[in-house]
Amino acid sequence: AARAQPGVQRLRAYDPGHDLVALRRRFRESQLVELGSNENPYGPSPAARQAIVDQLHALHRYPDPLGADLKRALAARHGVHPSQILLGNGSHELLMMLGQVFAGPGEDVVFSRYGFAVFALATQAAGATMRVVEALPREHPRMPLGHDLDAITASITDRTKLVYLANPNNPTGTWFGREAFAAFMARVPGEVIVVMDEAYAEMADADADAASALPWLASYPNLLLTRTFSKAYGLAGLRVGYLLGAPGLVAVMERLRESFNVNGPALAACEAALGDEAHLQCACARNAEQRSALSDALAKRGLRVYPSQTNFVLVEFGSRTAQAEADLVARGVVLRPMGGYGLPDCLRITVGDTDENRRLLAAIDAVLE
Ligand code: PMP
Repeated sequence: AARAQPGVQRLRAYDPGHDLVALRRRFRESQLVELGSNENPYGPSPAARQAIVDQLHALHRYPDPLGADLKRALAARHGVHPSQILLGNGSHELLMMLGQVFAGPGEDVVFSRYGFAVFALATQAAGATMRVVEALPREHPRMPLGHDLDAITASITDRTKLVYLANPNNPTGTWFGREAFAAFMARVPGEVIVVMDEAYAEMADADADAASALPWLASYPNLLLTRTFSKAYGLAGLRVGYLLGAPGLVAVMERLRESFNVNGPALAACEAALGDEAHLQCACARNAEQRSALSDALAKRGLRVYPSQTNFVLVEFGSRTAQAEADLVARGVVLRPMGGYGLPDCLRITVGDTDENRRLLAAIDAVLE
């Protein structure tokens, strides 16, 4: 590790919390309740599966390096020009590239405490300095652990190159509204690039006021946003995300993009998924219903559940956290420990389907007895 650049020396490799392959082997797959990775239990549109089958004849060919068809479909959906879109091998890749392209040694990257883990990773990989801004306190009446946008603006200096925000955020599930975001953008200097990670945007309730940055793209050339097919579209296994922003910034990022970063079956499947709006809406509606039912059920058991507009909830288990987590895994229920995020008294629970949530609650009742 001593040979690595200083930012990389301090990093640790991605830890999914558990060896899922071993767990799947131990429990038959149908018996394991996997609620650790914020996956979509309803899966993708059947049209996406079919599109992959239709691509099998072309596996010996490189995919379209520009992903032109998918970009056109995304541009039409979001009301932007295809030159405003960059495709990534998951939005994770795009968040990493942002650090590499726009920040470096001696420069700052600002993000919230409990902001998505890749923000810290990207900053350190770029050799830039992390400025981690305290989140809203646990006692905050409206959005405990949420981004404190005022404090984030206040910590921007003339060394700041990049600000990462997530709306809604993982692992907290928290969000902020249109008014707060508008005020934030108005105060950020134009030289600072604002990245809005919207991995869960499709899952937010229409009346929740979890602002998408989309309407502001036209007014702020320093604003970029990222989305993914991994969550609401149920295509985590394909690894496709995309970034929207001003053509100039997108073009600079294209310079560093690996030529064939999104594979052929994935391009075709995502285009097909975009065409099946009914499937997307159905998955989001079921998620919202289950999120609310699960939150109520957990709260009834005396656990503190943080507000969420995503497909997971952050839950306080207090001093029982580590033991409860271990006991749940022993029963085949996988959740995500939050020690790495500095929230060791919490577990993050993905909202499953009716059956998974029922089995989760039964297991929680058994281990907390
Ligand atoms: N942003 C957030 C907030 C996430 O939670 C995730 C996935 N956990 C990602 C980005 C990355 O997702 P993907 O690389 O699958 O697009």
